[in-house]
Amino acid sequence: MIPITTVKFGPEEEREVLEVLRSGSIAQGPKVAQLEAEFARMHGVPHAIAVNNGTTALVAALQALDLQPGDEVVTSPFTFVATLNAILEAGATATFADIRFDDFNVDPESLAAAIGPKTKVLLPVHLYGQMADMGAISALAEQNGLRILEDAAQSHGATYDGRSAGSYGLGTFSLYATKNLTTGEGGIITTNDDAIADKLRVMRNQGMRARYVYEMAGHNYRLTDLQAALGLPQLARYESIVAARKRNAARLSEGLSDVPGVVVPQELPGRSHVWHQYTIRVTEEARVSRDAFVEALSAEGIGAGVYYPRLLWDYDAYRDHPRVLRREAPVAEQVAAQVISLPVHNALSDDDLSAIVAAVSKVAGA
Ligand SMILES: *Cc1c(COP(=O)(O)O)cnc(C)c1O
Repeated sequence: MIPITTVKFGPEEEREVLEVLRSGSIAQGPKVAQLEAEFARMHGVPHAIAVNNGTTALVAALQALDLQPGDEVVTSPFTFVATLNAILEAGATATFADIRFDDFNVDPESLAAAIGPKTKVLLPVHLYGQMADMGAISALAEQNGLRILEDAAQSHGATYDGRSAGSYGLGTFSLYATKNLTTGEGGIITTNDDAIADKLRVMRNQGMRARYVYEMAGHNYRLTDLQAALGLPQLARYESIVAARKRNAARLSEGLSDVPGVVVPQELPGRSHVWHQYTIRVTEEARVSRDAFVEALSAEGIGAGVYYPRLLWDYDAYRDHPRVLRREAPVAEQVAAQVISLPVHNALSDDDLSAIVAAVSKVAGA
């Protein structure tokens, strides 16, 4: 079976983690500080604040913006559930924009239509490793006096017009086990705003400015040095990790572009895609339904995934939620019924890639 995701650690990770183990201080310390400094440098931002996962990164970022009850955050309905859970946890109301077929991200036109008098934050999700149309989105934020929070959980190091994910205001990243960069569990918030960075650092540690000096009702959002140690070597070789993913994506597209019923993903002009997922759409032209397609791939030894099978408001937990304001999203509805993600990770061999292309072509009936 070729798995949809896998992690490879080497002697550098072993050395870093062992160093922390032997130091006897495993909680937040110098390794976390180093991870933050290197992550900030890589994303061209002055501040990176490490936290314990990508969901708390979103929650903390929203909390730092002091949202009041009734304040609305506009996001995509086609994302991982954490995006929505964080908005609700922060006490805000979620509303939504439709997405585009070409990048699976919020459509700026639909986003503009979703902005109302209560809107405070635009929360684009950079799905699968490619950034949303940040040129148009940042213009909208500026015109309407709104904050931007980028959910870049899947897009470490992605760029738009040469500018990094997480550099448009506030950005959050996940370091979960399946992400391009991982510490098992972990998260990072990036920002250009000195005051917000300072607030997040205090909030992360029980609201404590100095020993027993509490400045706000905070939380424990801390990452550990043991985790940061695991992330550091991956950060050092991240460029080569992404290069491998880009090569794999190109190989898949080369083999699959002419398969009837299969639409391959694109890297749009001006954007650097970091290929967290390689996601095709299965259209009516294919011989089988999307779900049958996934099963058939599995029978061929290909671990495919569906991210995500339904729009978030289409679950009981949110369907009648008073702070989840559903809007029309015909593109997102269609996309959720069509997507399949194929393995694209950096542990794939040439033979694996050929096997994936052959299996997809066979299942599609090409
Ligand atoms: C993974 C992910 C998150 C949450 O990150 P965790 O580290 O799992 O809490 C949030 N948003 C998106 C889009 C994700 O893919």
